[in-house]
Amino acid sequence: MTLTVLFAASDANWQDYAAPLRAALADAGIDATLTREADPAGVDYIVYAPSSPVQDFAPFTRCKAVLSLWAGVERIVGNPTLTQPLCRMVDPALTEGMVEWVVGHALRHHLGMDRHIVNPGRVWDPTCPPLARERPVAMLGMGELGTACARALAALNFPVTGWSRTPKDVAGIPCLSGEAGLEQALCGAAIVVTLLPRTPETENTLDARRLALLPQGAVILNPGRGALIDDAALLAALDAGRVGHATLDVFRVEPLPQDHPFWTHPRVTVTPHIAADTRAPSASRVIVENIRRAEAGEPLLNRVDRQRGY
Ligand code: NDP
Repeated sequence: MTLTVLFAASDANWQDYAAPLRAALADAGIDATLTREADPAGVDYIVYAPSSPVQDFAPFTRCKAVLSLWAGVERIVGNPTLTQPLCRMVDPALTEGMVEWVVGHALRHHLGMDRHIVNPGRVWDPTCPPLARERPVAMLGMGELGTACARALAALNFPVTGWSRTPKDVAGIPCLSGEAGLEQALCGAAIVVTLLPRTPETENTLDARRLALLPQGAVILNPGRGALIDDAALLAALDAGRVGHATLDVFRVEPLPQDHPFWTHPRVTVTPHIAADTRAPSASRVIVENIRRAEAGEPLLNRVDRQRGY
């Protein structure tokens, strides 16, 4: 029987994904029609992005899984009409991109590159940066992305401490959990990376009290979600010098409003939610592997736990 796969995402997503998804379905030997419109009662799988016109999943009575093109699922996970299994995106190319963004921005601050890139006064300042081994990093979130970034930074000799909801055993990287673990990780961190999902529990993970635990001048990199940080507390910590610089890729409102103080703060770098993008060729294979699994009666990969919210 021919499966019906509904592509419920934006026109731009369709431009990127139609051909790679069809190719991946063909490569996997799956007989399927990939379509942007279908009778909901006849749909077997939904490929979803937050831009989707589909917000009511109740009529999709035959649908066996909703397959997200995004790693972060906070905009769908609480949808009360969604009773079908939900899978988030874990894409090797997205992970690669995130590692590059995190390592690049960590090295920018570690090496003090700004002083030399913009130096209108032609100041000959031979101050050498410390070695990476002298610059502790706290990685908040040790999932797919956080663990890959932690390993990449540890390979450059940064002493990385991981922090996650449940305890982890990662070779060469001490991992903490719980409130005491978070406080311990922050107390020693010269660089903090936030790669947590947005859930009610992670909202304002970096609030005024926890920001005050950081050593003076610590750098924050946030490619996770804007809500992980209390904006006002961060601005106050930047003004006080507690935080030396914040490089932010994600915001509570996106695009970041023109009048938001992050745009003009001298010690904030704004990147426009480009830390890591899902890449259609590899992500299509991930989507199709889950369709293959569901049809073969095998467990789905990257299934979201509704209770946890990620
Ligand atoms: P994962 O689900 O693989 O990992 C999430 C990590 O966060 C896990 O280690 C988890 O702990 C931890 N965590 C969750 N809740 C808590 C909590 N309450 N306290 C402590 N730790 C917690 O997600 P990914 O690594 O794939 O992605 C992380 C986030 O990155 C996404 O949710 C998304 O928001 C963001 N992202 C941003 C992109 C960008 O371009 N800026 C691109 C892609 C993703 P545990 O291991 O114990 O479950």
